[in-house]
Amino acid sequence: MYNFSMSKPQDYDENFIPLDVAKRIIMSALEDFDPILGARAREIFANGHRLRITEELEQRTGMMNCLPAGITIQDLKDRDMYFDFVEPFDNGIFIEHNADGSEAIINFEYTYSVDSLCYLAHEIGHAIADDIQRACGLSFRDFSPHELEKQAYFIQSIVAAHIDPDFNTESAAFVPASETSLSSAFNREAQRYEAVGAYKQAAALAASQRTAFIETIMGKPACAATITPPYPLAEDTVHL
Ligand SMILES: [Zn+2]
Repeated sequence: MYNFSMSKPQDYDENFIPLDVAKRIIMSALEDFDPILGARAREIFANGHRLRITEELEQRTGMMNCLPAGITIQDLKDRDMYFDFVEPFDNGIFIEHNADGSEAIINFEYTYSVDSLCYLAHEIGHAIADDIQRACGLSFRDFSPHELEKQAYFIQSIVAAHIDPDFNTESAAFVPASETSLSSAFNREAQRYEAVGAYKQAAALAASQRTAFIETIMGKPACAATITPPYPLAEDTVHL
């Protein structure tokens, strides 16, 4: 487990955020927003086999992805993702094309910047979504690439807003996507815009309503009951 006795946000240098600090910031942001969401992130960070993270001062591979539970090479080829996993990353760390089948895993090159922290939050978002979907008997195959990205950007938006309330509006370049760009199944601008909108909706809800809203955004069928994670909520978190 990590030591959660975290320093205040102003105590870190935005240009050099140690990985452990980045993890704690992500967990605190999600915990503050919704305790169950925080517990889900905590569970993923506590399981080293779900995170293959390298640290580099400068981008080397640019690796950042989350392999959903049970994904196959054919799935990757079908989604034009296979390219990301071939030779450049065959270094003993970013190697597995198949997650071991039971849980989503994250491959990530962390570069200590606040942007890198937000991208890590994005990949954690994919893993959280995958956990929620599997608890409902679904999988990533039940969602379009657009839906899956929106789920990850939703989590990224929560963390970005925690770091700086203006971060989302600035970084999303916040131009509503045109009809043309919306027609693309993989338009990041549209995914981000929609996710920030969902974040604002969730933020406006009372805490008692927020969990169910979040789970629906993350892929739970709206009719299903709220899912209690199979692990305890944190009691020892010092919020940022
Ligand atoms: Zn993504």
